[in-house]
Amino acid sequence: MNRFTKITASIGPKCEDKKTLTKMIQAGVNVCRLNFSHDTGETQGKKIDLIREVSAKLNMPVAVMIDLQGPKHRIGNFETEDKYPLKVGQKFTFDDDATLGDGTRVQLPDADVMKSLNKGDRILLNDGKIEMVVDSVKPNKVVATVVRGNEIWSRRGFNLPDTEIATSVLTEKDRADLEYALTKDPDWVAISFVQRPEDIAEVRDFIVARTSHPVKIIAKIERPNAVERITEIAAVADGVMIARGDLAVEVPFEKLPAISRHIIRECRKMNKPVIMATQMLGTMVNSEFPTRAEITDVANTAYLRADSTMTSEETTIGINPVNVIETMDKILSYADMDAIANPYDWSRVENVPENDWSRSVASMAYLNKASAIVVFARDTITATEISCRKPDIPIVAVCRDRLIANQLCLARGVFPIYDENLFGQRDAFNSARKFGVNNGKLVIVDEDKISLRTLD
Ligand code: PEP
Repeated sequence: MNRFTKITASIGPKCEDKKTLTKMIQAGVNVCRLNFSHDTGETQGKKIDLIREVSAKLNMPVAVMIDLQGPKHRIGNFETEDKYPLKVGQKFTFDDDATLGDGTRVQLPDADVMKSLNKGDRILLNDGKIEMVVDSVKPNKVVATVVRGNEIWSRRGFNLPDTEIATSVLTEKDRADLEYALTKDPDWVAISFVQRPEDIAEVRDFIVARTSHPVKIIAKIERPNAVERITEIAAVADGVMIARGDLAVEVPFEKLPAISRHIIRECRKMNKPVIMATQMLGTMVNSEFPTRAEITDVANTAYLRADSTMTSEETTIGINPVNVIETMDKILSYADMDAIANPYDWSRVENVPENDWSRSVASMAYLNKASAIVVFARDTITATEISCRKPDIPIVAVCRDRLIANQLCLARGVFPIYDENLFGQRDAFNSARKFGVNNGKLVIVDEDKISLRTLD
C-alpha cells in the first residue's frame, strides 16, 4: 500500500515462463504488456492464458494490455547485406520500384507515405541517425538531400515528424492481430502511431463490431501531431502512453520532459490514466543496478503523479526481469511516500471545476484526514476520476466484476479487489482492512452516495 504509481511490464522471452511471471507479479507488476511487434497470434495467446492463470492463482488482479505494432514505416531492401554510407549534401531517392536499392536510391514500399510527403518535410532514418529533407515529390518518386549522414541498410525504419500520413492507424497485420487478440478478452489495447482522435474511433468501431467485451483503448503518443491534439485524443481514448522511444525521434529530444509533463496534465484534466514508457531502467538489460539518471527518471514519474511506469527490454530480454520490477517498486514506493509527505508540487495544480464531484470526494477525504477512500466500482469511471484528483490516500476499489478490477490496475493509487461477496456498503471496512487500513476515517462512495465513516 505504499506504492501508488503502477508498474506496466512488457512480457517477452526472458519472463514468459510461469515461475518468472509469478515472481514478477508478486514483486509488483500491475499491468502485463504484450508487444505484437514481436510475437503474434497463438504465441501471444498462450502468454495471455498464463498471465490469467498466475493472476487467479495469486488472487492478485493484473491487467493484460496488448500493444499493436501500428504503421511503423520501413524502407525496402538493398542489393547486398552491406551498409551504405550517406554523406551530408548528397541526394537520395525513394521510389516505388521494387528493384533492390543501392547507395543512391531505395524502394519506399508504402504508397500512402509517398503520397503524404511534401517538399521541406524531414525524413529520419534509423532512429534519427540519418536526417534528410525532401527536395521534390513526384507521384512515384521522392528526392531528398542528406543533412545528417550515417549508414543505411535494408528494412530500416523511418520517421516523418513533419508529415501527417494519410493512412489507417491499423495495418493489415494489426487487424489480424487485434482480431485474434479479441478472442482472448484483453483488458487494454494500445494503439501505436496515433495521429488524430478519429484513429481511436476507428479502432473502437473495429472492436465493437467484433466483441461486446468492453476493451479499453490506450493511445500511444509518439508523433508531433498527436502531441498537438493531445486533449482531443485523451478525451476519446481510455488512457494514454507517452511512447518516448519514437517520440524522442520525432520531436527535438530536449522537448521530451516538457511534452511529458504537458501530456500528464492534459490526461488528468480528461480523467484518463497515463503511462510513462521506454528506457526507464534501460541499462538493466545488462546490469543488476540502475544508473543514477534512471533512478531519478522513475522517481520523477511518481512525483509527476503519472499513473504508471513501464518496462520494455529490461524485462523482455534483460538479465534479471524480477530484479527490474523489485528495483522499480523500491524507487516508486519511496518517491510516492515522499511526495505525500512533502506535498508541495506544481503537478497538484488542478484545472478542474470546484463543483466537480470527484474533486469533492478528494476534498472530503483531505479535510477529514481520511485513511482511505472505498469505492464500490460498478464501472472503471468512478475510481479513475477520483484517482485523477490525486487524493494521496489509497482508493480501495471493490469490484464484483473481474474485468473492472483488472482495468483499474492501471489507475494511480487505486487498489482493486475482485470479490463478489464484499460488494455492499457494510463491507467497506473489511475491504479497507484487506489493504492494512485498520483505523481512521473512510470516505465511502457507492453510486451517488458519498459517506464518511470511522473505522472501529
Ligand atoms: C515507444 O516507442 O516508446 C514504444 C513504447 O513503442 P514500441 O515499443 O512499440 O516501439
